[in-house]
Amino acid sequence: MNNIKKPIVIVGSGFGGINAALHLRNNNDDFSILVIDSKTNFEFKPLLYEVFSSEIKSWEVNPTFDSIYANSGITFIRNHVQFIDFDRNLLILQDDLKVEFEYLVLATGSSPNDFSIKGVKEYCSYFNTNKDRLNLKKSLAKPTSVGTNNKIFIVGAGPSGVELACKVRDLYKLKFEIYIIEKTSEILNNSKSFNKEEAEKTIERKNINLIKNCSVIEITDEEISLINNFNQVEKFSYFEVIWTAGIKPNLPEFNKQIQRNNNKILINNQLQLKEFPNVFAIGDISQIENNNSMPVTAQVAMQQGEHVALNLKLLINNEKLLPFKFNDIGEMMSLGIGKASISGLGLTISGELAFDLRRIIYASKMPKIRKSLKSTASWFLEKKSIFKGIL
Ligand SMILES: Cc1cc2nc3c(=O)[nH]c(=O)nc-3n(C[C@H](O)[C@H](O)[C@H](O)COP(=O)(O)OP(=O)(O)OC[C@H]3O[C@@H](n4cnc5c(N)ncnc54)[C@H](O)[C@@H]3O)c2cc1C
Repeated sequence: MNNIKKPIVIVGSGFGGINAALHLRNNNDDFSILVIDSKTNFEFKPLLYEVFSSEIKSWEVNPTFDSIYANSGITFIRNHVQFIDFDRNLLILQDDLKVEFEYLVLATGSSPNDFSIKGVKEYCSYFNTNKDRLNLKKSLAKPTSVGTNNKIFIVGAGPSGVELACKVRDLYKLKFEIYIIEKTSEILNNSKSFNKEEAEKTIERKNINLIKNCSVIEITDEEISLINNFNQVEKFSYFEVIWTAGIKPNLPEFNKQIQRNNNKILINNQLQLKEFPNVFAIGDISQIENNNSMPVTAQVAMQQGEHVALNLKLLINNEKLLPFKFNDIGEMMSLGIGKASISGLGLTISGELAFDLRRIIYASKMPKIRKSLKSTASWFLEKKSIFKGIL
C-alpha cells in the first residue's frame, strides 16, 4: 500500500459523508480520516416529518457527530468549508483555518432552490433541516382566522410536499385549509406507481386540495400569485406558504472552473471529479456524466459513500477503480400520522404496517450510536408481534 501523508478529508457528514468515513475506517486501519461538517448533529431527513409530528423524538434521529465518531479513530471538526484551492489541495474554513488534503470527498448535500422567484426567500417556510422544522412548528402554532386567513400553500407535489401536507392535516386537524400547488399535471412525478396511487387516495381522503398545472410567480407578505397553463393569474391570501419545490447543491467556492450540470458537480462513474481524480463528489451535490436517471435520495448518497471508500482504497493502491452501480431497493413514503406506503423489497404495502416497517428499516440505517439503537430496540420489542410473517 502507498503511504499517504495527509488525512483523507471528507467535507459534509450527512448520509454520503458518514458512510464514506465509516466504510473507509472499517476496511483500513492505517488511513488517517478527517471529517468536517458545519453542524454538530447528524440530520436523518427522511424522518423529519415524524419529528415534526412528535411521533419520534429529535434525539433519536439527530445524534451528535462526536458520538458517531467516538472511538472510531476518525477526527471530526465542526467548521464550514468556504473555499477549495485545487492547485494547492487546500481547504479554507471559517476563521481562516486551512486544511491540506491529498484525497478529498465532497458530500455537502443540498438546500431549497427558490428559482429566483420573487418573495420566496422572504416569505416562505422551508422543510429541509431541523431549524426549518422548529420554525414551521412555531409559525403554525399562531392563531388563524377561519375562512379568511387559514390557508396553507405547500408548493411542489414531490415526496416532501405530499408527506408534509399529510402530517400537517393530521396534526392540526381542521385548523387549516391545505393546498398543494404542482406545476405539472401529476403529483410525485418520479415515484413508484403504487406509492403514487396510495398518496392520491390519501390526499383526497384527508381533504387536501390539489392545484395542478399551476406555477408560483410571486409571493408578497399577504398573497401568493399563481399562473396556470392558459396564462391566467390568480391571487390568494395565505396563512403560510411552505416551499418544497426544488433543491440546489450546497457548494463551497472553488478557484478552478469545474464542469457542472444544473449546478451539480459533474463526476465520472467512479465518482471522481473529471478534472481532479483525487477529488470525489457524492450524494445530492453531484451528477454522474450521461446519467440523468439517478434519484436525489439518501439511498443513493449512502451507496455512493460506501463505493467511494472502496474506490479511494483502490486509487491509493494504484489499482483500477470500479464504476458505481445504483441498487434501487425501493421507496418508502409517510402518509400522515402512523401511516405510510412502501414499494420495494418485494413488497407493496400501505397503512399502519407500512409505517412500522418503514421505521424499522430507517432505524437499521441509523449510524451506530448506542442511545438511538437502544430506543429503537425497545420500540421494536413493543411492536414485534405485528411483524410475524414478514420479517
Ligand atoms: C424532508 C426530507 C425528507 C426526505 N426523505 C427522504 C426519503 O424518504 N428517502 C430518501 O432516500 N431521501 C430522502 N430525502 C433526501 C435525502 O435526505 C438526501 O438525498 C440526503 O440527505 C443526501 O445526502 P448527502 O450526504 O448528499 O447530504 P446531507 O445528508 O444533506 O448532508 C450534507 C452535510 O454537509 C454539511 N455541509 C454542507 N455544506 C458544508 C460546508 N460548506 N462545510 C461543511 N459542511 C457542510 C451539512 O451540514 C450536512 O451535514 C429527504 C430530504 C428531506 C429534506
